[in-house]
Amino acid sequence: MREDYTLSHARNRYLRCASFLTMTLPTPAEQLTYFRKQQNQIIDTIQQLVEIESPSDVKAALDRLGTVLTSRFSELGGKVRVHRAEKFGNHLEIRFKAARVSNSKPILLLGHTDTVYPIGTISKMPFRVAKARVFGPGVLDMKGGIALILHVIEALLGWNGGKLPRPVTVFLVSDEEVGSASSRAITEKLARESSGVLVLEPAAGSNGAVKTSRKGVGEYELCVAGKAAHSGLDFEKGQSAVIELAYQVLEISKLVDLQRGITLNVGKVKGGTRVNVVPAEARASIDVRITKKEDAAEVERRLRALKPVNPNCKISLSGGINRPPMERTPGVAALFTKAASVARELGWDLEEAAVGGGSDGNFTAALGIPTLDGLGVVGEGAHAEHESLLISELPRRAALLAGLITSI
Ligand SMILES: [Zn+2]
Repeated sequence: MREDYTLSHARNRYLRCASFLTMTLPTPAEQLTYFRKQQNQIIDTIQQLVEIESPSDVKAALDRLGTVLTSRFSELGGKVRVHRAEKFGNHLEIRFKAARVSNSKPILLLGHTDTVYPIGTISKMPFRVAKARVFGPGVLDMKGGIALILHVIEALLGWNGGKLPRPVTVFLVSDEEVGSASSRAITEKLARESSGVLVLEPAAGSNGAVKTSRKGVGEYELCVAGKAAHSGLDFEKGQSAVIELAYQVLEISKLVDLQRGITLNVGKVKGGTRVNVVPAEARASIDVRITKKEDAAEVERRLRALKPVNPNCKISLSGGINRPPMERTPGVAALFTKAASVARELGWDLEEAAVGGGSDGNFTAALGIPTLDGLGVVGEGAHAEHESLLISELPRRAALLAGLITSI
């Protein structure tokens, strides 16, 4: 009984405190106004992050960006832990405490610091503001998303007397564009201790849909070994690996099942040494996308079952599915419902989308942790010369993220 009394007493105190807190929080409309006023500062942050180029394969460059981000997050009071990676850039984990001691699990904000652009790209496609957009390498995917995290946390700290309304963990990986091999285990560990995961990858399409399902991604390589011969003197003694590969590519294309969302793309082929030599070697790189976890095993089995058409050639397969699909589980759907209601309060109908590309959200969703992706900025041209984001959408994205952190 005594315990019950203490508990209900504590709960009442909490509720009084919470309602007081709610009263002091700006309304959704006021939050939007706040972020509209912050728009130029957000753009300045994006510029700072974009002008430090950070391709996945240049550790020194990624660590330079990591140092800047460490100081930006530390200035806000975040506790930064640097996860050192030998071959990749270091990964950054930043923790923010809640306003009061609370048992609620943290929410995990997930992002990546690496881009697909080699060093020097910035001189060909410089950071610039034009036509109501911000252009530059990685503005959309996803330095704009990292800037949103910084400014939303800053705003929430201001509105809650220097603390956050709930515990928040930010995790920024440096190897997302190359498969997240070195960060995956940390992402999964942090996700397991969180109540939900918000991924700051760009939104889907120009109306800013969030992503509630993503395809799983795999990469395979098929190698063919034949026998070389002089194409003029000994043609009949050769066993062409290129011809064998051509047969295999056609077989692989038969595994595509658009209705089930299974695609296999032979995106790269290589073979032979010279025009007058029967090729002894050929290889193909295959990109695989699946929508259901169970399809991974089936695609794998069918690829492994490929047999050479020419019995004098040998084929071998390497690779596998490296990102499980992010499926629209009830947990994901509930998170979307929450996001849609936050958006409605901001006067907008938030849409959801299923996309073919994978992200680190695939890992966390596959663990059963509610995950919502595409909460970053809105724009077009990710990984392309015209990569850009829409400035007018920045305040709304920031307010949506602030509302979600507060309410889930
Ligand atoms: Zn990305």
